[in-house]
Amino acid sequence: MSGANAPVVRIEGLSKRFGGLEVLHDVNLEVLRGEVVAVIGPSGSGKSTLLRCVNRLEEPDAGVVEVAGVRLEAHARGQAARVRELRQRTAMVFQSFNLFPHLTALENVIEGPITVRRVPRAQAEARGLELLARVGLSDKAHAYPAQLSGGQKQRVAIARALAMDPEVLLLDEPTSALDPELVGEVLGVIRDLALEGRTMLLVTHEMRFARDVARRVVFMDGGRVVEQGEPQAFFAAPRTERARRFLGRFE
Ligand code: ADP
Ligand code: MG
Repeated sequence: MSGANAPVVRIEGLSKRFGGLEVLHDVNLEVLRGEVVAVIGPSGSGKSTLLRCVNRLEEPDAGVVEVAGVRLEAHARGQAARVRELRQRTAMVFQSFNLFPHLTALENVIEGPITVRRVPRAQAEARGLELLARVGLSDKAHAYPAQLSGGQKQRVAIARALAMDPEVLLLDEPTSALDPELVGEVLGVIRDLALEGRTMLLVTHEMRFARDVARRVVFMDGGRVVEQGEPQAFFAAPRTERARRFLGRFE
């Protein structure tokens, strides 16, 4: 499982409906170790639901999700322990940051390691400060979220995700809630993580960033993977009419 080409995330035949609405239809996807895979597509195409099925915030109706060797089928009973294991191998960064407002930046970062991983506080703090330095926020360790800009909050959220040592980082439109002038600082952090070889599944509307940083682009529409491929080729000449129409909106 530890080879360079081992899939860290393997999704097979994933389907999900909400009532009568089929939100994911037979989705197949792999993210190899060290790869960044960008998921793009119109609003409502199922991108968030896909990420939420990977870490089991949503229970799929059919299909298999495997993360770093932890394999979960849909609807299998008695899987609670495996769900916990699978969650521990992932970490999610949300559009809306989801920081604890009553905790400082550093306290947000160390909360998971201390409560979930039982890491001693001193050790968690040392690592937390290191991670805050990595996202350029050494001077904000003791600031509360309300005292931070959107870009700073999202960088804290990324440090918090990294503190859990995930096998794969799931990022759901991490820059969509930011003022335009703050987008670059967050993309810069994500780019550094990509260069370090972090495995990431990234939902984004930043097309140029996806083209430059992703190893593969997955285009979703109507709950299906309509097209996927190498970014340069995909953005230069999408094969499907639906992808062409979608990309046309960003020109
Ligand atoms: P995207 O992230 O691509 O915008 P989502 O995965 O959020 O798409 O949503 C896909 C579809 O599923 C949308 O039509 C959305 O309204 C619907 N949906 C998402 N979550 C729920 C839910 N918890 N209950 C009912 N419908 C949902
Ligand atoms: Mg979404």
